[in-house]
Amino acid sequence: MAEKNKNALLDLKKRPGNHVCADCGKHDPDFAAYNIGIFICKECADIHKFLGRHISKVKSVKVDEWTDEEVEFMASNGNLIAKRKYERYVAPCYKKPGQRDYPILREQWIRAKYERKEFMDEKQQTYLLGRKEGFLWKRGKDDSRFQSRRFILDEEENVIKYYVDPSAKEPKAALKLSDINVTFCPDKIGNPNGMQISYMKDDVTRNLFVYSDDGQDIVDWFNAIRSAKFNRMKIENPGANKADLVDHLNTDYTKEGFLYKSGPRGKEAYKKRWFSLESKKLKYYSDPLDPHPKGEIYLGNKKDGYTTREGLPAGIHTHNGGFSFTLATPGRDYYLSAETEESRVDWMDILNKTVDPTLKN
Ligand SMILES: [Zn+2]
Repeated sequence: MAEKNKNALLDLKKRPGNHVCADCGKHDPDFAAYNIGIFICKECADIHKFLGRHISKVKSVKVDEWTDEEVEFMASNGNLIAKRKYERYVAPCYKKPGQRDYPILREQWIRAKYERKEFMDEKQQTYLLGRKEGFLWKRGKDDSRFQSRRFILDEEENVIKYYVDPSAKEPKAALKLSDINVTFCPDKIGNPNGMQISYMKDDVTRNLFVYSDDGQDIVDWFNAIRSAKFNRMKIENPGANKADLVDHLNTDYTKEGFLYKSGPRGKEAYKKRWFSLESKKLKYYSDPLDPHPKGEIYLGNKKDGYTTREGLPAGIHTHNGGFSFTLATPGRDYYLSAETEESRVDWMDILNKTVDPTLKN
């Protein structure tokens, strides 16, 4: 009996849509929310369990016992039917999480779908309205404390601005929406709801670090920024394909982490720096939360002289105990050192892929 139901479930998993997680797309999901009728992966199942059994009842496909009724419910529902119901009104600019996305995005996506049923009724998606207002904790530029600041996003004015004094007429800063990049940075600021807003000011990158006490609120801000940028892009590029525009709403960092770096002559002592790779720009900072980078390296193409080499040229000062490599650019060679062999391999691999499009996987 138990064996029959287990086999029936394994067969159901082969149906279109059921072979990937209903929430994040991971292959071969091993769990199911059996009151919703979907197959989901372990990571998403953990979030479902957290929502409570009044919303989602989770079982393992392989380990748990299943009743005939539960299997029948799975058979008459499944991932595709649930998607039509729970994802009916997902806006193109809404950031659906993949397997490797930040945990906050995955959690809020699952809550939005099944707890708030946000995509079954368009009216709930207030972040699509082109205006959002509220308080966020913002890190000071010159001191490391986070303080409550009033933020306003206005799509029509193409601006996101914040106020130190909530009743002040003039904002402390007003950033052009079309110029900003937004991404999550939970590890850097030590808060699961941490977000980084970057823009260029006087030709220099400026980073703002904010968080909200509420996970839904920070993801709403994130999607409100994406939605406003999307709507403005559509007006400015009337003929453009929507899917292409969606790809340009924000950029996550390809890789971030500490490396040691010597100076231009290769004689200088190595200093610990936080490196951050965003598309073809490699920035480095004294501290991960610095408002401005100490330097920015543009990564062009291999055929123009951009490349990496393991080790250092003869005569260049080495970093004791480090794992060295050279990043060559037409203007200058950068002498770098990773803390472990694994980190060196990782950095060289990702930098090589950045300068050589034929290596893209
Ligand atoms: Zn999943």
